[in-house]
Amino acid sequence: EGLDAATQAAVARRARLLGPAYRLFYRHPVAVCRGEGTRLFDAEGREYLDAYNNVASVGHANPRVVEAVARQMGTLCTHTRYIQDGILDYAEQMLPTFGGRIAANGHMMFTCTGSEANDLAMRIARHRTGRNGIIVTAEAYHGNSHLTAGFSPSLGDASPLGTWVRRVPAPDSYRMDPDTLGQKMAEAVAEQAWELKRHGDGLAAFIADSLFSSDGIFATPGVLKPVAEAVHAAGGLFVADEVQSGFARSGDRFWGFQRHGIDPDIVTMGKPMGNGYPVAGIAVAPEVVESFGRDTRYFNTFGGNGVAMAAAQAVVDFMRDEDVQGNVARVGARIREGLTALAARHEAIGDIRGAGLYIGVEMVSDRAARTPDAALAARIVNDLRERRVLISATGPEANVLKIRPPLVFSDTDADWLLSEFSAVLAAL
Ligand code: PMP
Repeated sequence: EGLDAATQAAVARRARLLGPAYRLFYRHPVAVCRGEGTRLFDAEGREYLDAYNNVASVGHANPRVVEAVARQMGTLCTHTRYIQDGILDYAEQMLPTFGGRIAANGHMMFTCTGSEANDLAMRIARHRTGRNGIIVTAEAYHGNSHLTAGFSPSLGDASPLGTWVRRVPAPDSYRMDPDTLGQKMAEAVAEQAWELKRHGDGLAAFIADSLFSSDGIFATPGVLKPVAEAVHAAGGLFVADEVQSGFARSGDRFWGFQRHGIDPDIVTMGKPMGNGYPVAGIAVAPEVVESFGRDTRYFNTFGGNGVAMAAAQAVVDFMRDEDVQGNVARVGARIREGLTALAARHEAIGDIRGAGLYIGVEMVSDRAARTPDAALAARIVNDLRERRVLISATGPEANVLKIRPPLVFSDTDADWLLSEFSAVLAAL
């Protein structure tokens, strides 16, 4: 209701052709046809500020990535059963960035999506440990394949979890004592590992998004350190899902797990890796993948193809040459400062958290009681959209505003976002 005829027709056409499982953002959906840097444009040329999309992390239509992809596509695009330098050069440069055992003599394997990366990580973990159990956080999302959907509780109660899945609460720094978050989480993991042993064959792996995106965005550093110790004590593997938190998103470290001071057994990555070209993968400690590699084999038709590697290489080259991580730290701090100033005037802002350019703003109806206000969060998201600023909301109660722009977000972009947010709050 309230939509113009053209939008109504487009929404109906989409539903007719794509069926009932797809969801659109916003009460008034946005039709887009072009992107550039931190901006999206509709068919009428109207400009939107993109404060949401992490895939285009070095900017929509980044010329360097576009050129690299086009050049490689015009040269050769084939699979990994031939010797090609691109994939080797990329792995050689990236492996040292993980530190620990992976940097020492680990390996990289390539997929097309984050789902496939997590799926592969779990197959390797199960092969290595000879067990099936997987522990995740309460509202985790790890993918859309049959295996990964089975350990993605955020898909909703009607989407079945595996009988081999156990959940632990996310490290909620707003409602729990920040000083004991890690210890509490480690205790919960130890308990669930024991449950898996009692009811099945035990723990294969613990997997978590290092910034807990779908759980509501929690960024207290160090929390996962005691968790990793508990996982290893139970004989399981620690899988760091860096699909959201990797590639400089947090500003202070290149990988999100590094904020926790841990040495993961497997790291999975995707989304921003190719700035929109589908490329994802895993980095793995050598002993973890040894028996898997011996007993079976891995092939992925498109994963790690020449064009995927050209895109991935262009992304990290751009990040290094343009000090993208430095920009993330600086602009992220600027946005959080601006939000903190707004919180002094608006009681409905209960908490501001996150790291770098992954920012959560928790909206509440009662600040003292910390009562989630999903309706208000939805209203703010939609009001911002009417002002052509794009964000979203997340968390178990969908009351946490999710601000996660391309990493090339500028000071001007940050000030634009803040002034529109201020105007929306003032108009409530
Ligand atoms: N892990 C996390 C933490 C994610 O956020 C996502 C995607 N939202 C995935 C895995 C799955 O990635 P993809 O959509 O590329 O399969």
